[in-house]
Amino acid sequence: MRTLPFLGLLLAACANETHTVPAMPRQDEPVGGGFDAHSPLETRITATPVDVLRMFVEDGQASPTEHALTPEERRKVAAAFAALPPLHRRILPERLHSISFLDGMPNGALTSPADANEPHRLFHITLRAGVLRENLSEFLTQKEQQCFDTAGSSRRVSIEAGTMDAIVFVLLHETTHVVDGSLRLTPDSAFTTSAWSERTLIAPAFRDPLLAKAKFRRDGEVLPVDRAEAVYSALERTPFVSLYGSSNWSDDLAEAVAWYQLTERLGQPYRIVIRDQGKEAFAYEPMKSPVVRNRFDQLSKFYEEPG
Ligand SMILES: [Zn+2]
Repeated sequence: MRTLPFLGLLLAACANETHTVPAMPRQDEPVGGGFDAHSPLETRITATPVDVLRMFVEDGQASPTEHALTPEERRKVAAAFAALPPLHRRILPERLHSISFLDGMPNGALTSPADANEPHRLFHITLRAGVLRENLSEFLTQKEQQCFDTAGSSRRVSIEAGTMDAIVFVLLHETTHVVDGSLRLTPDSAFTTSAWSERTLIAPAFRDPLLAKAKFRRDGEVLPVDRAEAVYSALERTPFVSLYGSSNWSDDLAEAVAWYQLTERLGQPYRIVIRDQGKEAFAYEPMKSPVVRNRFDQLSKFYEEPG
């Protein structure tokens, strides 16, 4: 699958990690024009920028179309914004230019600069509209199962994360990319340097050949599901909260913040489970792992209230 230029900016295509998109000003609406940092975040739902739509067309993967939100869907989006940590709620009003929803989007989400030429960078988030109809366990199980080939096996991977709306998690993850891109948290924070050698190269202490093959990585592969237990046993020895978080340092932070907020602050469950013919054969609860919890202190900046 083709990947477009990175431009040295924080750009994230999430859920399948398939696309990055060049930052270009919208032709139909100059960035900054009409942008109001005081407007409520949930009112910033707009059409998708033309350059993002063009990327999908040029990639030939899909022809997504604009999704008009129902009142119920708008309520879900507003509730998801309300569930963000304090640092997000301080940074986003000045940095989140807009958010849009597409039907038929091949990946789950995309965070891109609204205009790379602006010194005060603003971001646009594009989301797959189907996320609004899924709960968290459905969304994450579907995403995780893309990593494994179940042919000839009775084993199945699932993520047990309760029935909260998936949009809460997706927005937490994507807006953490915006906060990260605005404050330049990666790669210079201890959170990142303790676990990574390079953007996609895990630090030697946690490096594992099986994790390096995960489908979520750009050069990853679909593994036989019978190897899933070995994959998650390898993950268990690392500080990463999810397989997706082990793919690069930006998603490591986004996943850690999202899961911390969901489990520690919103009381949601999080278990990675492998079942064989319906019977539980393996389970791992990343947020109970000492090596994962070791990094919780480094997330405190997301919860500091201005003094
Ligand atoms: Zn991401």
